[in-house]
Amino acid sequence: MSSIPLVFYPTQPIPQVDDRPPIVGSRVELQLLTTLTCNLKCTYCSISEGGVLGSQGKVTYSMEALDNFIRKHLDGYDVYVTFYGGEPTLNQPFIREVMTRYPNFRFQLQTNGTLLDNLPDNVLSRLSNILVSIDGGEKTTDGYRGRGIYRQVLKNLRETHERIGGTVTARMTWSNDAISFEEIDALTETFDYVYFQFVAGEAYTAEAVEGRKAVLSKLIERFFASTDHIYPIIPFMGAIRNKVMPKRAIELYDGKTQCRVSTHILNVMPDGKIYPCPDMMHLPEMLQGDLDGNWLRASPLQPHPNMPCHTCEAYSWCRGNCMKNLYLAYVKGDERYRKNVTDPICDLVRFMGQEIDRHRPVEWFASLPLAARKEITDCEVYEYVEIMP
Ligand code: SF4
Ligand code: SF4
Repeated sequence: MSSIPLVFYPTQPIPQVDDRPPIVGSRVELQLLTTLTCNLKCTYCSISEGGVLGSQGKVTYSMEALDNFIRKHLDGYDVYVTFYGGEPTLNQPFIREVMTRYPNFRFQLQTNGTLLDNLPDNVLSRLSNILVSIDGGEKTTDGYRGRGIYRQVLKNLRETHERIGGTVTARMTWSNDAISFEEIDALTETFDYVYFQFVAGEAYTAEAVEGRKAVLSKLIERFFASTDHIYPIIPFMGAIRNKVMPKRAIELYDGKTQCRVSTHILNVMPDGKIYPCPDMMHLPEMLQGDLDGNWLRASPLQPHPNMPCHTCEAYSWCRGNCMKNLYLAYVKGDERYRKNVTDPICDLVRFMGQEIDRHRPVEWFASLPLAARKEITDCEVYEYVEIMP
């Protein structure tokens, strides 16, 4: 982990002030927020923080500005674009224009899935991965997103699945302790992969943590019961990859967080401002660049000596995820957030690792057929999600 202290920058365009490269490694994810508006009102929406949701409409920078930025800062990189929002499918012309302009990029869509059926075949077929936000089963999802949403999303997936070029991944926010093993297990039958993330909210009473641990234990039990194919839950797959091949956990991220915010993800707001984390676009000190001004600096969201990761048992495979939670708790010093959000989530992450270890992952991996081993070591979806929950 770097010992570079966190540096605070002014909000106006500035030149590079240190010699760290803006992008580490050979890949970069360009997360383009096509709009900050959304057709749903999910109760826990993370970008509603700081009034970001709805604060801007559609993209205001020109395609020439995007061209110039890519030419100056991303030339030679393996670029993958994620269309993000708000709800990105509300701005289809922009998606089509970017796909036409950059035919050699990879593309991913992060969507609530309600408008998937409106996308034309030539967009669906170019998507390497679609992340569909979901909360669990029908009752849970409709509870957070509105009545009928779960069925609508599943219907859209049935209708479009054949026309989607790549994989479809459920991106499940694990919002409460009533979410059951059965709900998550059912998602593995509908989606190619399931990625879950513990909600960054005050949802962690002692009972709620124990409830999630019980579900985690069952899921991990189920995971290791498969010996011919992989039970497709990304946080378990990624954690096991990191335990079996620890160098894989560091090679793509310079040893830092696997959500890429410290190394190679650029969240471009509709007005062209660039931030490392989509949940921190309301914090001026996080400004990393500006597409209109055509400047970019290294991510300001870096490991900090106050963060406890170096002494944590999970560090070798967790690598400090989530940096937002760590930053708010240990750099900003928000004690309430630390106690009610960051620390309980880290407790769950450590528990997940302990449960995986109980099942002897190294021996299990050795018993897998080659195709299943490759799925653990090289699954492309690792590039599109945070891996750790
Ligand atoms: S579990 Fe928490 S403290 Fe431990 S390495 Fe991960 S983020 Fe850091
Ligand atoms: S996991 Fe990474 S991208 Fe997601 S909220 Fe945390 S810091 Fe931001």
